[in-house]
Amino acid sequence: MPESNEPKLSLSGLTQQQLTELVCSWGEKPYRARQLWSWLHVRLAEEIDAMSDLSLALRTRLNDICAPLRPQIAAHRLSVDGTQKWLLTLADGQTIETVLIPEEGRGTLCISSQAGCTLTCPFCHTGTQGLARNLKTAEIVDQVLLVRSELVRCGSPHRVTNVVLMGMGEPLYNYNAVAKAVQILLDGNGIAIGSRKITLSTAGVVPRLLQAGRELGVNLAISLHAARDELRDQLVPLNRKYNLATLKQALQQYPLKHGRRITWEYVLLDGINDTDDDARQVARYLTAIPSKINLILFNPWSGTPFAPATPQRVENFQHILHQAGYVTVIRDRRGADIEAACGQLTGLLQGTRPRPIA
Ligand code: SAH
Repeated sequence: MPESNEPKLSLSGLTQQQLTELVCSWGEKPYRARQLWSWLHVRLAEEIDAMSDLSLALRTRLNDICAPLRPQIAAHRLSVDGTQKWLLTLADGQTIETVLIPEEGRGTLCISSQAGCTLTCPFCHTGTQGLARNLKTAEIVDQVLLVRSELVRCGSPHRVTNVVLMGMGEPLYNYNAVAKAVQILLDGNGIAIGSRKITLSTAGVVPRLLQAGRELGVNLAISLHAARDELRDQLVPLNRKYNLATLKQALQQYPLKHGRRITWEYVLLDGINDTDDDARQVARYLTAIPSKINLILFNPWSGTPFAPATPQRVENFQHILHQAGYVTVIRDRRGADIEAACGQLTGLLQGTRPRPIA
């Protein structure tokens, strides 16, 4: 038989309901769909043939129409601090990165939502590469499945307990695929990562913010990096479209769940956005928004004109925000020795203690 040109089906991009409808449309009983779901999301089967309790006929059918269950690992690196990075090759040859940051009692996986990015933030390495394309739902979910099964396969003591959409790309520019991926990650009979343990990071795509808040219920992180328009226009060019006032207005209507706060990311760049005045502007800007601030140590990359702020500046900046009453955490640089593109961000986690400054 000639090979069909139909695009192959990626099972991990289906919700449990869609998978059930598909399997039942072939005349199979619903419990077959439950078995298949469990093989994919809980038992972490790497191929259809491993699903030993499905009938041979069903496995053959799945093998005929389905794409491989895992992306290819193009490279894997392990940092001395335990951070691990996977470079994955997608079906069309695009590559994306996924970074695991193990910390005491949890493992945060930083996943990508696009291959590349359109936002051109000048201090971000991905920003210099331009957009390649949006990821599909399955390509987002697969990052979690792949790392979970790699950890089991290698007998690693680490687990993926938290997910941050903070890798390559702007998740709110790929909203539909991201929303469905989140729905799949949340499914209690499957990957089962709770909504408090998923964080979506955005540069501030205002028209999608409220929708994300209403529909996804996950934590929101916003890349601030400057609290005056003139500077933010440079550091986060999206600010020219949705400026600080517009962003704040949207956030004042944001449906924050009880007890939760918005996380703000602020990468401290030497001589650019790290003065006492900059800190005071941040404090003023965040007034009346339940906030937690993550001060991120800039991770330099070859060719960048930016440098990390000095420890003294970082300390002063944190002090001013503390004085103003904000929970302010300094995020360690992680995986610096493996160029952990988003590993540097170390996740956005509730309750992490500030790192003492040496
Ligand atoms: N587009 C989304 C998510 C991806 S970037 C967003 O802007 O939030 C995730 C975070 O990493 C952002 O706060 C980004 O500004 C920050 N970041 C990018 N490059 C960095 C670097 N070299 N050092 C430190 N933080 C960086």
